[in-house]
Order: sequence, then structure tokens, then C-alpha cells
Amino acid sequence: MAQTHFGFDTVDESDKARRVRGVFDSVATRYDVMNDVMSMGLHRAWKAYTVAVANLRPGDTVLDIAGGTGDLARAFARKVGDRGLVMHTDINESMLRTGRDRLLDEGLVLPTVVCDGEKLPYKTGSFDLVSVAFGLRNMTHKDAALVEMCRVLRPGGRLLVLEFSRVAEPLRKPYDWYSLKVLPLLGKWIANDADSYRYLAESIRMHPDQTELKTMMQAAGFGHVDVHNLTAGVVALHAGIKC
Ligand code: SAM
Repeated sequence: MAQTHFGFDTVDESDKARRVRGVFDSVATRYDVMNDVMSMGLHRAWKAYTVAVANLRPGDTVLDIAGGTGDLARAFARKVGDRGLVMHTDINESMLRTGRDRLLDEGLVLPTVVCDGEKLPYKTGSFDLVSVAFGLRNMTHKDAALVEMCRVLRPGGRLLVLEFSRVAEPLRKPYDWYSLKVLPLLGKWIANDADSYRYLAESIRMHPDQTELKTMMQAAGFGHVDVHNLTAGVVALHAGIKC
């Protein structure tokens, strides 16, 4: 059985998906409040920047992968309007249900689909834009997932990957202390779940940095890839154009 990483642990590939599901089943109902607390609200600015870079027009078609509780799907839906389409998708039913209920409460009805970012159930060339925010690092076969994301885009369509990345050198020590020591404590105090938040911090360390992810996107078929560092590289937005 091939091995992969789950945070800092090495596990069988088949076990990783099960453990990732366990993390998000466990955090789903408190995910939004924890996001605000842990990032001190910054995730809202990172997502707003992503929506600005997306530069969607009325009528565009969008696939949001690993969409979770629906922050990006909701913002995109407002841009594409009634003539457009935003698919809100995630592999985890608990996260998707939490997000769908939240969007319904706000009067927004989007097609909601449980699907794996590594095996997308869509035809080649279906979308103008594909997005994945804080989801790619949880996937087992990131290369295969990027190839799938490229496949479902129309030629000239764009992929936006918003993800934790490599922070600038002067901030590395305080950032390591905050994410590896403080985050699990916050997870324990607020969500009574230190392990899930330890996994989130460790998975950030194991994720490809800016340069490596750009190379992976180029290998997957994106002819041009721009990298936008946000908050000194705590997060990076990779924007790839399908050739
Ligand atoms: N995009 C949302 C956001 O930015 O708030 C949610 C991000 S949450 C940290 C990561 C999400 O990735 C979870 O909802 C999880 O279920 C999803 N995920 C993990 N592996 C996945 C896969 N193989 N395919 C699709 N979604 C996946």
C-alpha cells in the first residue's frame, strides 16, 4: 500500500482520506467561528482578494471545489447573477450541509454536490473558473487533482488555488509558534478538539510552497501561473490559465 502524510504522520494512502473526513466531520459546525478566531478575521480578506482576482462576469460558470461552508461560492454567486452558475462542492457531507444551510438561510440556493476534487464528475471544458480554497493540501493525490481541475476548465479558463504557503523568513519563528502551539490550544478551548487543529497546522507545513505548487500547476497543463503572496506568504493565491 502506498504511503502518504497526514500532518506529520505517515499513513497508508487509503487511510488519509478517512482521517481527513474525520477532521472535517468533527469541525463542521464550529468551522466558521474557528476560522475567524484562528486567522483573526484575515481569511475574509484573503477570500475577498480571491473574488477580486476572479473578476467574474454575469453569466460565468464556476466550480468551487472543497467549498466547505460556502464563503467563496456565496461571493461568486453574487457576481455571476441569475444567468451564471456556481457549483458548491465538497467531499465532506457535514461541511457541505453546514454551508448549504447557511446559504439557504441567506436566501441563496446553489447546486450542492458531494464530490472528490481528485475525480470530478464533470465534462471536459465545462467551467470558466475553478476555485479551491484551503482544500488542496487535504487531498492525497494533488497532481491528479490539478489535472482534473484543468480538464474541466474551458481553454482560457482559470484555476484559483488559495492555500497556506511558505511565510517570509523573518516571520517564520513566531508563525511556527502560533500555528503549532497556539492553534491546537485554541482548538481545545473553543472547539474541544485539539487534534483536528493540530492536523490543520501540521498539514500546512507539509504542503508544497509557492514555487513547488506553481511547478505542479504548470505540469498539470496551466500555461501561465501567477503567484500572489498574501500576508507575507502565510497564504498564497495561485492563478493558472488553461492553455
Ligand atoms: N473552502 C472552504 C473555506 O475556504 O472556508 C473550506 C476549506 S476547509 C479547510 C477544507 C475542505 O476541503 C473541507 O471541507 C474538506 O472536506 C475538503 N476536502 C478535503 N479533501 C477533499 C477532496 N479530496 N475533494 C474535495 N474536497 C475535499
